[in-house]
Amino acid sequence: MDIKAFFKLSYGLYVISSKYGDKLNGYVANTAFQVTAEPPQIAVSCHKDNLTSEIIGKSKVFSISVLDQKADVGVIGNFGYNSGKDIEKFDKMNYKTGKTGAPILLDSTIAWFECEVVDSFDVGSHILFIGKVVDSELIDEGKDPLTYDYYHKEMKGKAPKNAPTYIKEETGKEKSSGSGQKFECAVCGYVYDPAEGDEAQGIPPGTPFEELPDDWVCPICAAAKSDFVSMN
Ligand code: FE
Repeated sequence: MDIKAFFKLSYGLYVISSKYGDKLNGYVANTAFQVTAEPPQIAVSCHKDNLTSEIIGKSKVFSISVLDQKADVGVIGNFGYNSGKDIEKFDKMNYKTGKTGAPILLDSTIAWFECEVVDSFDVGSHILFIGKVVDSELIDEGKDPLTYDYYHKEMKGKAPKNAPTYIKEETGKEKSSGSGQKFECAVCGYVYDPAEGDEAQGIPPGTPFEELPDDWVCPICAAAKSDFVSMN
């Protein structure tokens, strides 16, 4: 089996949300795909360890927010690299409550769908939920959706360990090169490479990790500089 073949499958990036009782939660998913047109149905794949999996299982509803290509890294960090068991992910977010009662994230969102679960399948590590679309809205036609490819290549993002596409990487495989030592984000796995810098936060190529300002944050998950560890 050639693992690299899997990298040629294409996906988008979405925030899937739900609510049961008073608990709102959501996670970042790359697997949200339309499975039928009549009726309109969309499937999402959710890791069993994700709190949202349990919440969707009980509430039988979920929403899908399609992320903007220029999505705020804080939004991805909040939903993708935290657990709703530890924090209230929606506390600092803009959202509205949909027809089904599910929260619909509006930050960094260009379109959304709201679904009622009509079926679910246990596929091992994940549960595949099939949802019938009961409402949807295109918020900004002029903006492009964030794709998994763009996230990896342009934003240097890594798949969280609960993603259906996560493939365990050898630690320390990536060695230091160029003008300094690389540092890895302990939260999301993003690697700061001094040779590349971080253009989005105004850090020019050639800036050693030690010289990054104290308020510099991980461009993927917004973790603090202190959450980075040396790769040597
Ligand atoms: Fe990070």
